[in-house]
Amino acid sequence: MNKMNAFLILYFIACVGCVSNPRVKADDAATGVETSLKQDSSGRNGGNVAAIPAGARILIDVYPDAGMKYKDGYIVFPDGERILYDDGKKKSFTVMLDNSDVEDMFGMRYDTASSKPGYLSDAGRSRCEALFKKMYGKSASEVASRMETVDWFGQKIKFTKVNGASSQLGKVVAELKTKPHLAKYLKPASTFYWRNVRGAKRMSAHSYGIAIDINVKMSDYWLWANKGKGETAKILYKNRIPLELVRVFEKHGFVWGGRWYHYDTMHFEYRPEQLANKV
Ligand SMILES: [Zn+2]
Repeated sequence: MNKMNAFLILYFIACVGCVSNPRVKADDAATGVETSLKQDSSGRNGGNVAAIPAGARILIDVYPDAGMKYKDGYIVFPDGERILYDDGKKKSFTVMLDNSDVEDMFGMRYDTASSKPGYLSDAGRSRCEALFKKMYGKSASEVASRMETVDWFGQKIKFTKVNGASSQLGKVVAELKTKPHLAKYLKPASTFYWRNVRGAKRMSAHSYGIAIDINVKMSDYWLWANKGKGETAKILYKNRIPLELVRVFEKHGFVWGGRWYHYDTMHFEYRPEQLANKV
């Protein structure tokens, strides 16, 4: 294929991507297509992989243990269970959080460059419940059966083994041990509890064993300083957690709740797909 033909094909596919998902920029869609074409030649996913949406491509890449594939609008697991990628519904900010499909999880980009999150910038707060329950467990006992104990600076905490999350947390521990000046922020920590997000109908990431809250006494939560405010209200930002600590977690695949407009600065969550998201 000569360069011009290749360009035209990429341009065409990128534009189709833009129509189905207005948030996808043409340059990013084109990058996703290149990745898909590479996968096609390896035969890893078989079939028409050039049509894989960028978000599905990211999930397949960052959660290899899950063995996901994308077919005909669905994320497909090795046991045949399927999860719809995009329900096609236009959603308000709150509905997108409460009723997220897989595509909605990539609707915002996790911003590691700004010192303060922009208005309603909440990348990672949208979680497709069906996807998380499929990966980490559909009940408290199923999630618990997939967890192991991690030594968190002398405190024993539970974290899921699924997707290598507990071993990534182990790398965070090893690196933070070299930074004793950060110790006061780290303990006591809490991880697993099967419950909804405070004041909301959706499940908390703590239900899946992928989240850790560090020392609450050094932390801030948006509702504490903005009592009674709704999820689209303008709110005051507060944070006391050093970015040096945050960057250690991010390096190993964790997002930080302090980068959310609806901040939760004690909260770290294993979400490598958010860190890889260029959609
Ligand atoms: Zn938390």
